[in-house]
Amino acid sequence: MDILNIATAYNDELRIYACDSTELVKYAEKIHNLWPTSAAALGRVLTMAAIMTNLEKNDDTKITIKIDGDGPIGLITVVADKDGVKGFCHNPGVYLTNNNGKLLVGEAVGNGTLTVIKDFRLKEPFSSTCDLISGEIANDFAYYFNQSEQTNTAVALGVLFNKEGKVENAGGYLIQVMPNCKEETISKVETILANIKPISSLLADGLTPKDIIQLLSDNTANILDSKDINYHCDCSKERFLNGIKSLGNKEITEMIDDGKDIEITCNFCNKKYIFTPDDLKKLL
Ligand SMILES: [Zn+2]
Repeated sequence: MDILNIATAYNDELRIYACDSTELVKYAEKIHNLWPTSAAALGRVLTMAAIMTNLEKNDDTKITIKIDGDGPIGLITVVADKDGVKGFCHNPGVYLTNNNGKLLVGEAVGNGTLTVIKDFRLKEPFSSTCDLISGEIANDFAYYFNQSEQTNTAVALGVLFNKEGKVENAGGYLIQVMPNCKEETISKVETILANIKPISSLLADGLTPKDIIQLLSDNTANILDSKDINYHCDCSKERFLNGIKSLGNKEITEMIDDGKDIEITCNFCNKKYIFTPDDLKKLL
C-alpha cells in the first residue's frame, strides 16, 4: 500500500505533503496498458490528485482534474475522493522522448488548460480553470494554486522507469506556505528545493515520504498524519444502468428491439459490463 504523510515544519510556517504512489501508478500502467510518456503524465496527475484530496478540510470532497492539452496524449481525467484515486488519458500509447531518451511529457501534453472541480456534495461545486504553463504537470499545478487558490505552493511530481520502460517508482510532494511564514524560511526552502534531487531519485535511493519531508524541512518537521493512498474505481452494473436509464424510454425501447447485448467498458478501470435486452426491459 502507498503512503502519504502530512507534516508541519519550521514552527508551523509551512505545511508539507509527501507521498510514495508507486503501487497506484503501476496499477494504472497495468490496467490502461500505458506507454512510458502516457504513464509519466497520468502518473503525475494521479499522484497530485492523491495529495489534493488531503488538502481539503471536508473529508467528503470529490476532486475532478481535467488536463486538456493539444498534444498526442489528449485529455487526461482524474477523479479522487477519500476512497482513492482513478483516472485515464485519451491516448495511453504515447512514447515521446528526446535524443537522450528523456521523456517529453510537456510536449506530449501540449498547450491547453488545467481544470479542477471540487464537489463538496452538499454545497455548490467549485470549478476553476487556468492555462497550462509547460504541460510538465508539477509546475502547472503550482501555477494553478497561485492563480486559482491564491496560495503560494511548491509542487514536485515524478515517475521513474526501468530499462524495460516500466514504472519503477512514483511519488510527489507539495509545500504550502502558511500566512505566518517568514521571508527567511521561504529563502531557506528555496535553497533546499534548488539543490534537492528529483523525487523519483529520492525514492530510488530508498527514502520514505517521511525522510523526504525531513530533507525538505531541514529536520524541523512534525509529522501530523499518515494516510494510505490507492487506485480505486467505484463503478458498478447498477451505476451504468442508471446511465442508460437517463437516455429515456424511446432510446431504451429501440435498444431492446435490436435484441442485442450492450457492452459498456468503464473508462477508469476498463471493466466490461454486459446488459442483455432483459436487463434493459427492467428500466422501462
Ligand atoms: Zn470502473
